[in-house]
Amino acid sequence: MRTPLVVGNWKMHLSRDEAGALAGEIRNKLDISPDQVGVAVCPPFPYLSAVHAVLAGGPVALGAQDGHWAPQGAYTGWVSMQMLVDVGCRYVIIGHSERRQFAQETDTDIGKKVKAGLGQGLAVILCVGETGPERDGGITYDVVMRQLSGALEGLSGAECDNLIIAYEPVWAIGTGKTATPAMAQEVHSFIRSWMEKRWGFGAAQKLIILYGGSVKPDNMRTLAAMHDIDGALVGGASLGAQGFLEIVRQADAGKR
Ligand code: PEP
Repeated sequence: MRTPLVVGNWKMHLSRDEAGALAGEIRNKLDISPDQVGVAVCPPFPYLSAVHAVLAGGPVALGAQDGHWAPQGAYTGWVSMQMLVDVGCRYVIIGHSERRQFAQETDTDIGKKVKAGLGQGLAVILCVGETGPERDGGITYDVVMRQLSGALEGLSGAECDNLIIAYEPVWAIGTGKTATPAMAQEVHSFIRSWMEKRWGFGAAQKLIILYGGSVKPDNMRTLAAMHDIDGALVGGASLGAQGFLEIVRQADAGKR
């Protein structure tokens, strides 16, 4: 059985003090054990160390929102996977739609980042998902398949032990529109079958597939009740401890 995971993506929000306080409240009030639901938060880069200090030794893991593929070098403004490990990250989000859109990240760039993150022992959360026009045009599966093959080219199942997929329909991110549990389940199941063809039944069954896109306390339970939905990547609703913790509880409830 897969242990569900709930990850908060804080994007470019909060001050240093607010980030520390939010992490502290989540750590102190979390009432679900890590073997029921894994929990991680991904603050902006400058706050990683401060948040790590607050979370250290507790059940909430630290993640970053991106990382470069090169171990070091002349890449002004970027941060390497080694640096993320160095400041205590266990997770890294790669290929978020906001980076595909605003930083023009390609599937090739994303593939290099995925390999670099896995190579450093990070759990890589690879985001895939279609835009509204792509869904309306009936090409959701083509888009998701292209994103998966581009990002995972050349990787074996064994190398991807630490890989997590986040299915995030772009039209649902930050819009208040959520995919219905049935719609999300269809794509999650497609992703798992795609992985099975590539890496075999065992690897596909172990793969954690998160849903992302306007997840809230009141929709997490029905989403998590779906067979192939193993938790969530949460943006806006991860910026308040109470709501985020309720999402964690609902992820657990949905699997019971
Ligand atoms: C995200 O940023 O990954 C996300 C899913 O955002 P939101 O929950 O705000 O839609």
